[in-house]
Amino acid sequence: MAKCVCVIAEFRNGNFRRVSFEVASEGKRVADALGLELYGVAVGSGVASKAAELGRYGVRKVLVRDDPALENYLAETHVPIVAEMVGRLDPAVILLPASVDGKDLGSRLGAKLRVALVQDVVQIVCEDGRVRAKWPIFAGKCFAWSEWLGGTLPVISCRPNVMSCREPDDSFAAEVENVDVPIPQARSHVKAIDYDTSGKVELSEAEIIISGGRGMKEASNYSMLEELAQLLGAAVGASRAAVDSGWRPHSDQVGQTGKVVNPDLYIAVGISGAIQHLAGMGSSKYIVAINRDPDAPIFSKADYGIVEDLFKFIPAFTEEVRKHKSTCS
Ligand SMILES: Cc1cc2nc3c(=O)[nH]c(=O)nc-3n(C[C@H](O)[C@H](O)[C@H](O)COP(=O)(O)OP(=O)(O)OC[C@H]3O[C@@H](n4cnc5c(N)ncnc54)[C@H](O)[C@@H]3O)c2cc1C
Repeated sequence: MAKCVCVIAEFRNGNFRRVSFEVASEGKRVADALGLELYGVAVGSGVASKAAELGRYGVRKVLVRDDPALENYLAETHVPIVAEMVGRLDPAVILLPASVDGKDLGSRLGAKLRVALVQDVVQIVCEDGRVRAKWPIFAGKCFAWSEWLGGTLPVISCRPNVMSCREPDDSFAAEVENVDVPIPQARSHVKAIDYDTSGKVELSEAEIIISGGRGMKEASNYSMLEELAQLLGAAVGASRAAVDSGWRPHSDQVGQTGKVVNPDLYIAVGISGAIQHLAGMGSSKYIVAINRDPDAPIFSKADYGIVEDLFKFIPAFTEEVRKHKSTCS
């Protein structure tokens, strides 16, 4: 197969995750800049019937391994299969999502293929056939640019919600080729049973996030944020202090040791703005902070700051949003 750009799409619960379309869109930009075709790799249960969808974002052909045993990501099964499929494409560049599963897959794939991986990339530039990628270092305090030497294979995981999706072209469907790569017998003692799909907006894909910190005082007070989040179609996040206090699950934690998020709007409620928290949300498009301490460091990062007791502000703001929505509907 001729050299190409390859995107590894992430498939879960019967659908591609939105970040897969962002990565495909970026892949198309890279492929066009390098004068190459864009191919895809997709692994999962039920993925064969959906794979053509990737064509709407510029993927010409998708290699698919579809089996019920591949329902949930498991490194021991997915990595060898993806590595085998990628090998068949002989790509010049590999892109995949910097999601939780994507980062795991990317690092193992990089090791298996003996190539350098750069994680959590926020920008890719192609010039004179060379690929450069910008990625955060020192917990997001600054960014580094990496460039691959001629002949080496760049493997790049792309931060969700940063690279824009191209306008889907509904008239184009990707060619789908089912490949019969054997599924390795998993040696792991861990089995993914289910993903929590209780209707919550996924943090890393949310356009609006409302996060609560230690200022929320106790777990039950998060119902205020959940009410507002429901009105705004937002996800609820938390600082580590809130998670360590047992008020929120770790899956809600934003920051250096939690999730890195890039929503259009991030509302920090009762969060001081420690550097480790900023590492996870500092590149949000707009940041609003609500804190009763005018000297809280979060205000230096915020686009809009509200110095107020959150227990006064949030109910009043929620009421205003509710009124506004009812007049608009
Ligand atoms: C290695 C390492 C990794 C870490 N990783 C993370 C991470 O991933 N994510 C993370 O968040 N932190 C992380 N931390 C912890 C981080 O350093 C901070 O301790 C934490 O972010 C503080 O959380 P907070 O802002 O909720 O609490 P605090 O710093 O205690 O701030 C609470 C804020 O609430 C305000 N407040 C209180 N009451 C009210 C009220 N009624 N109305 C309005 N405002 C009010 C206060 O003025 C204060 O600013 C990490 C630390 C280390 C050392």
